Amino acid sequence: MPNYHIWTIGCQMNKAESERLASLFDQKGYQVVPNATQADIIILNTCVVRQNAEDRAVNKLRNLKTLKKSHPGLILAVTGCWVDSNIDRLKANFPYVDYFFKAGDGPPWEDLNEWSQALPKQPQPTTYVPIIQGCNNFCAYCVVPYRRGRERSRPLSEVVCEVKELVKRGTMEVTLLGQNVDSYGHDLPDKPDLADLLTELNGIDNLYRIRFLTNHPKDMSLRLIQRITELDKVCKNINLPMQSGSNEILKAMRRGYTVEDYRRLINEIRREIPDISLSNDIIVGFPTETEAQFQQTVDVLTELRFDTVHIAAYSPRPGTIAARELVDDVPADEKKRRLSIVEKLQEKIATKINAGLMEKTVEVLVEGKEKGKWYGRTGTDKLVFFSDNANYAGKLVHLKIELTSPWSLQGTVNH
Ligand code: SAH
Ligand code: SF4
Repeated sequence: MPNYHIWTIGCQMNKAESERLASLFDQKGYQVVPNATQADIIILNTCVVRQNAEDRAVNKLRNLKTLKKSHPGLILAVTGCWVDSNIDRLKANFPYVDYFFKAGDGPPWEDLNEWSQALPKQPQPTTYVPIIQGCNNFCAYCVVPYRRGRERSRPLSEVVCEVKELVKRGTMEVTLLGQNVDSYGHDLPDKPDLADLLTELNGIDNLYRIRFLTNHPKDMSLRLIQRITELDKVCKNINLPMQSGSNEILKAMRRGYTVEDYRRLINEIRREIPDISLSNDIIVGFPTETEAQFQQTVDVLTELRFDTVHIAAYSPRPGTIAARELVDDVPADEKKRRLSIVEKLQEKIATKINAGLMEKTVEVLVEGKEKGKWYGRTGTDKLVFFSDNANYAGKLVHLKIELTSPWSLQGTVNH
């Protein structure tokens, strides 16, 4: 039986797809190996959302050239968002690669019927479940719609059956994935939405938590917000990327909302769900972003105070609207400066928010052990570490928080 090795970078969708590849191989009896040099099958699951992710994937691929030469029987395959529709060009540039296959597709040398049934390997307490593929939004900076195509929702009954099966195998928490989960269902015959799907999933016995990401500020509905408050298994955590605090930049980004719309939505969410935790994505240095416009982003982040902010420096992506129509005119050093200002601000905000959890008891789903410490997440997506000799893998545990930092918490078991 062959040994396999999967290398993954990028978003949760890539991770979900790598989990599914691994489970197909596991079902066939293939052995996973930690090192590419021991493998008979190597898969690189790539990301091109920013230039540095693309560079990492290409470097990795170049490094594997010698390995492929010394191990002629090795299957070397590349998937993920680096694989565009021009596979012939990729093959010409990287002739030593055996297969290129598009993100979300199965490995073409395997039985693809088996691939479509491959569920993530078990047991693991928390599992990603893609519910909608692709994106119809074409934000000016973003390459995703070009690489993952238009939106395709999975039928509601199919998702429910899959989650039931995962729960039977030991999953306690699912994270529903989509580039825009608020679009879920619009392309299905009965037009169910995310609120309908959450309601169905909430009824599954022995499923304890339901998460979802990513929401889009132009699409998130009041109906969904209310449903989150009503359904006990749905985690009080929302990922709602703002991207910029300037209306001019949001317009140039083609995001479809204003800062005022965004603020109204956040206030609405907080009114309905007071204990909600919120995460945000920000891009600094988008073309034409002035110091004053950047300052507006800083001001909105200071005002609205998010639990987590993912910050990226704008990276022009060939083929996108911004790369075609706008000059990347904010110098690299200036992007770095703006990025670090937002990072420092967010560190302060998260320090304060997390300090508020001191002495509180939180419920954590334990995902594993690292450097002698158990770790898991709260429903609000706070990472918590604790030490205890008993086996807590896959258990829900109540912890009293004794140490906090902007990035994680530490607690002790409440016996
Ligand atoms: N669908 C999600 C996330 C898509 S990509 C959404 O709508 O937000 C994940 C994040 O990468 C984005 O939120 C954005 O902040 C960042 N990103 C995407 N393209 C980028 C680019 N060209 N340069 C810098 N950051 C980018
Ligand atoms: Fe990219 Fe915008 Fe679609 Fe998100 S919503 S994947 S940022 S195009």
